[in-house]
Amino acid sequence: MTDLDFCCQECFRDSYLRELLNKDSIKAIVSKCYYCGSKKQVSIEICELTESFEKLFEAYWEDSAGELFPDALQRDWSLFSKLLPADKREELVEKLLPNYPDLLTAKYLLKQTKFSDPKAIWHGLVKTIRHERRWFFRELQLGFGGSTLQDFLNTFLVCVESLARDIKDLDDKKWYRARVVLGTRYKIKYMGAPPPEKATSGRANSAGIPVLYLASDEDTAIAEVRPDPGEIVQVAFFKITEGKVLDLRDNASYSSPFRVEETDDIATLNVFLSLFKEIAQGLATPIVKADRVLKYLPYQFICELLQANGFDGILFPSSVSRGNNLVLFDVTKPKAYRSVLHRVTRHYFETMRA
Ligand SMILES: [Zn+2]
Repeated sequence: MTDLDFCCQECFRDSYLRELLNKDSIKAIVSKCYYCGSKKQVSIEICELTESFEKLFEAYWEDSAGELFPDALQRDWSLFSKLLPADKREELVEKLLPNYPDLLTAKYLLKQTKFSDPKAIWHGLVKTIRHERRWFFRELQLGFGGSTLQDFLNTFLVCVESLARDIKDLDDKKWYRARVVLGTRYKIKYMGAPPPEKATSGRANSAGIPVLYLASDEDTAIAEVRPDPGEIVQVAFFKITEGKVLDLRDNASYSSPFRVEETDDIATLNVFLSLFKEIAQGLATPIVKADRVLKYLPYQFICELLQANGFDGILFPSSVSRGNNLVLFDVTKPKAYRSVLHRVTRHYFETMRA
């Protein structure tokens, strides 16, 4: 074996491949990666990835409107890191798929899928739940062609599995929640989610249905309660160690074609990815108070869909600070274990010309 038979974590941008190459079980250190040029990275023998890439190849067909296979992979999934020059990317793909001689001569496109434009379907659904009906849907009036709303939501749930994470695998081990102190300091048992009668409407919950909003750092937790200068804010710490969450941080970049079980769903995931990115951007965008009731609705819909289908929460960038928000649907389990007080001394604003 030579250095040409190994590639490293830095060859890829794809989160699944990077995680795989980080695992302790795969330990081969190559002094300098032949493909991306990184030094002393944990590497894998390329043939160990062949089966995964063969499955991915099955999601494509030859089409003169497409691109050479390495370019198609990069366009559709941003699979390879920027360290990899185009010629090395081609060499690596040939090594990954040794039994496919036409990779660099034929052109490839992802196969067509049942829902070619999930964003349009989603926009129609959002319009319906905002302005037409909220509890019951008559399929034909939603204009989904031959497919039903249930078909669409089932496909959404299949694709969203590629963004599912176990909380225990997250880098953040501590989570924070803040409350503005009005009078005396809160007992620690009151630092969790509010009781149902006090739960106001939020991105991840309807009024009256409490969820637990947490932040990845103290500053974000404090910013989330929008305190005025001079006010005292109490920040509690939570240790959250288990649960399945939808990860919409970093523009849904955790998604990977290798996280989809069925080959037939790979092309579908690709078209759903743009929808997931749009939802992630929407969650990270501030919404002014006057618009909140209607603008929160689509996210509340998604959260109930996730909760009904085995998810324990959702993770997304904060719209008011640099950190992230973790929302947990079950408010009974997490317990705050200690808290500190902060006095707000100054507000910071970031603006742009409207
Ligand atoms: Zn490399």
